[in-house]
Order: sequence, then structure tokens, then C-alpha cells
Amino acid sequence: MQPILVKDKRFKVSMPASKIQARVQEVGAQISHDYEGRTPMFISVLTGAFIFAADLVRSVATPSEIAFIRVASYEGTDSTGEVKEVLGLKEDIAGRDVIIVEDIVDTGLTMQELVGLLEKKNPRSIAICSLLVKPDKLQVHDLPIKYRCFDIPNDFILGYGLDYDGLGRELPDIYTLVTE
Ligand code: 5GP
Repeated sequence: MQPILVKDKRFKVSMPASKIQARVQEVGAQISHDYEGRTPMFISVLTGAFIFAADLVRSVATPSEIAFIRVASYEGTDSTGEVKEVLGLKEDIAGRDVIIVEDIVDTGLTMQELVGLLEKKNPRSIAICSLLVKPDKLQVHDLPIKYRCFDIPNDFILGYGLDYDGLGRELPDIYTLVTE
């Protein structure tokens, strides 16, 4: 398949939509089994996880609720993991089974901060469901990543909700940056 141009960089398909969809269904079935009768509260991190979250909640058979949050980090830094606050969480999560829905866990620093902030609100349990994990970049090794769809190499990717400079989120497949 020909690479596509997004802004000033070329990307090629590394994971077709059919493979993503099949795996999301599998993970959804696993969550349905694990949380039967418990009405989990999905907390999806905007913006990158919005498409994954939409597919995931529809693949879970047990009733659930969903909330969307933003994590605000210090400006001018990239992926420092210094999450200042959680924006947009109006729901009371005390006593709830929370499943954080994330697009990609890279260093894991963002998730570490987020889990810490949510734990202070006294949920019954917290699990992470990440579409992607880059295991070679992971710096935090005790994260509760109970569900992950795919482990991927360290390359930069976009599509299926993930962007390059705001672009590419609408693409149904996942693409990897062409580096040569
Ligand atoms: P962490 O704190 O785990 O290092 O950062 C995770 C965040 O970095 C993800 O939620 C995502 O926004 C961003 N990120 C990490 N790797 C990639 C990538 O390959 N492509 C895109 N589009 N975003 C990424």
C-alpha cells in the first residue's frame, strides 16, 4: 500500500482496521466477563482515545457508564507526565469500578499520575485498558494495565484517534511514520 502524506510526513499502514476491530471485540468480551453485574465506569482520556472508547463500550455486553476527561500538564513540555489536574470529571467515582481507557501508554508517566489522582477519589477498583503499549519505552512497571489490545515498537503512529499535529485522527487504520 502506498504511503500517505499527513502534513509534512509520510505514513504507511501498520495495522489495518479489521485487525483493530477484531481485537477490540476480544478485549470487550473479556471486560464483559470480568465485570459482569458490576456496571463499570469507563473514564476515557481525550482526545486520542475517543474512537477506541466508542468502539470499546459498544463491545462490552454488561451495562456501563462513560465519562471523558482531559489531563492538563505543564505547558511547553512534551510527555513529562506531570499531570496537574483532571479536567471534566463531574461524576462521583467513590465505590465505583473504574476502567481508564487510554490510546497509548508510552513512558507510562501520564497514567501513573492519573491513577494517583483518581485513587484519591476512593473508587472500588482502578484498571487501565490501553489500545496500545510501547513496552520498550515503559518507565513505570507497576501500572494496573489489565487490558491492552496491542504491544507496538517505539515508532510514531497515528490514526484511529491518534494524531500528528492534530491531523489523522479520522483514519480507520493505524499508520506508522516512514522514516527513510
Ligand atoms: P506517556 O506519558 O505514556 O509517555 O505518554 C502517553 C501519551 O503520549 C499518549 O496518550 C499519546 O497522547 C502520546 N503518544 C505517545 N506515543 C505516541 C505516538 O506514537 N503517536 C501519537 N499520536 N501520540 C503518542
